[in-house]
Amino acid sequence: MESEEPGTEAEPCRQCGLCCRIFGPGIAPTPTNLFTWMEQERKDILAWFVAFREKGEPVSCAQLLPEDLGDVIFTEMRDPVTGNYVTVCPFLRRVEKTRYICGIHPVKPEMCRNYQPWIWGETAFNRCPALLSHRHPCRWPL
Ligand code: SF4
Ligand code: SF4
Repeated sequence: MESEEPGTEAEPCRQCGLCCRIFGPGIAPTPTNLFTWMEQERKDILAWFVAFREKGEPVSCAQLLPEDLGDVIFTEMRDPVTGNYVTVCPFLRRVEKTRYICGIHPVKPEMCRNYQPWIWGETAFNRCPALLSHRHPCRWPL
């Protein structure tokens, strides 16, 4: 998904933001992502995720300690104020009329970092303009 750099031949993302708007609320950070955000004191990111643990009530990831990570079964993106599910990824930033970037690009979740819908396979997203482009037909992984 979106960095601040324009798309390239190998990474032809057009920064339309569609994948982030559709799939963003369903992203789940890995334990490594959570640990990195803890190390970097990114409570602004951690606060948007709730951890469901083997024992105890669900808790905001902003309240977790590194030693708690082994007990986390899964996480969900939730509004830190209301606790409700979100409809759009809160980290998506609109920088032009039709151009969006990821507001946490350097530390974004692994599943966002690995997302390449122009590559044929599990991540194919047939509404991705980069995939639909004649110049960038869907291809097999290299
Ligand atoms: S839908 Fe495709 S072109 Fe649009 S932001 Fe996502 S990867 Fe980039
Ligand atoms: S974290 Fe960034 S790349 Fe991932 S869905 Fe949100 S805006 Fe898109």
